Amino acid sequence: MTRPDIRSVAVIGGDGIGLEVTAQGRRILELVAEKRSLPVKLVDVDYGVDAYKAHGEVLPDLTRRAMRDADAILFGATGGPAFDAIPAQARKAGSLLVVRRDFNLFANLRPVKVMPALYEASSLKQRVLEGLDMVIVRELVGGVYFGEPRGIETLPDGERRGVNTHAYTSTQIRRVAHVAFELARTRKGRVCSVAKENVMEAGRLWREEVQAVHDADYADLELTHMLADNCAMQLVRAPAQFDVIVTDNLFGDILSDCAAMATGSLGMLPSASLGPVEDDGRRAALYEPVHGSAPDIAGKELANPIGSILSVAMMLRFSFGMGKEADLIERAISDAVASGARTADIANGSRHLSTAEMGDAVASKLTALLN
Ligand code: NAD
Repeated sequence: MTRPDIRSVAVIGGDGIGLEVTAQGRRILELVAEKRSLPVKLVDVDYGVDAYKAHGEVLPDLTRRAMRDADAILFGATGGPAFDAIPAQARKAGSLLVVRRDFNLFANLRPVKVMPALYEASSLKQRVLEGLDMVIVRELVGGVYFGEPRGIETLPDGERRGVNTHAYTSTQIRRVAHVAFELARTRKGRVCSVAKENVMEAGRLWREEVQAVHDADYADLELTHMLADNCAMQLVRAPAQFDVIVTDNLFGDILSDCAAMATGSLGMLPSASLGPVEDDGRRAALYEPVHGSAPDIAGKELANPIGSILSVAMMLRFSFGMGKEADLIERAISDAVASGARTADIANGSRHLSTAEMGDAVASKLTALLN
């Protein structure tokens, strides 16, 4: 066990580009810790393909323990062809879904903020990007990714049938709604709840419960409701209309990848996955970029590490109460990008930096800001 005044962070690169981008997030965390004399203990542990090769398990006990003991977890990514080749039982036993469920990480915050220097990198026009600054709050431990029954069965006539169950309880909906409203209170005070209540009963319950939470505790804030298909369209038509979106596990997964392109790349988006606040004030927290292991670019130093570095900023803000330093990391990234630093995904075909060079560019700006 660490001394209580020492912050312990479990660092888990995982698979594919997760390893590359986490190395950059980790160094930025170390830099802040050094410059601000923050006692941080970083515990590097294996997960995924490397862990399976070394220990025969995707999520070895040592890793699970490090995650449980940590004040925060910095995670990279999971998945890819080598991961898919692991026998199903071993793969499922340690999957990221299991981690999210076991640590009860029910609220996933995904900020989407556009940097003016990257208007050109976005697939959208500048005029629709101006002022875009939203957070998608995705429910993370319920819905169709977890519902039972699930599986693939063979019917008597030989036909195969795949089954998943989309289910939500009022408690699951209400607690994530509270997170969204509390967050909106610190922002522009507007929440848009997204579901498919026109065709799904669980969607109708979603809408009713979010409305009830609003009416009981947050009537001073604005609440609107939007169907998920319309939301997908609005995210590319006029994304700056949103402040906080609260939605379920599946829609949150899809809509946030869509929203990411406003920023120029999926590689730009961070996330915080938070558990409930315990009696002693602690809460489980896992910080990771929104993207996956990107097998198409893994091992080539082409990945954009900004999503991981911004995830470190979220860690400082939500787990360590260091909002000022979090702001400085965000500013360092903006400064680096404004001075021309680009990884391939946001370079529009012009000269680009490697993953580590982008880390250098941000570290250099941040060093100046922290001095
Ligand atoms: P992906 O997010 O890995 O990649 C989608 C596309 O975006 C790819 O073209 C990739 O090159 C690009 N991209 C992603 N991150 C980037 C970055 N940081 N810099 C530059 N480009 C980036 O999604 P995918 O290819 O559909 O999935 C690959 C694997 O990742 C799958 O096994 C999937 O299950 C897994 N996955 C894991 C997570 C996670 O760990 N939380 C999230 C999503 C997908």
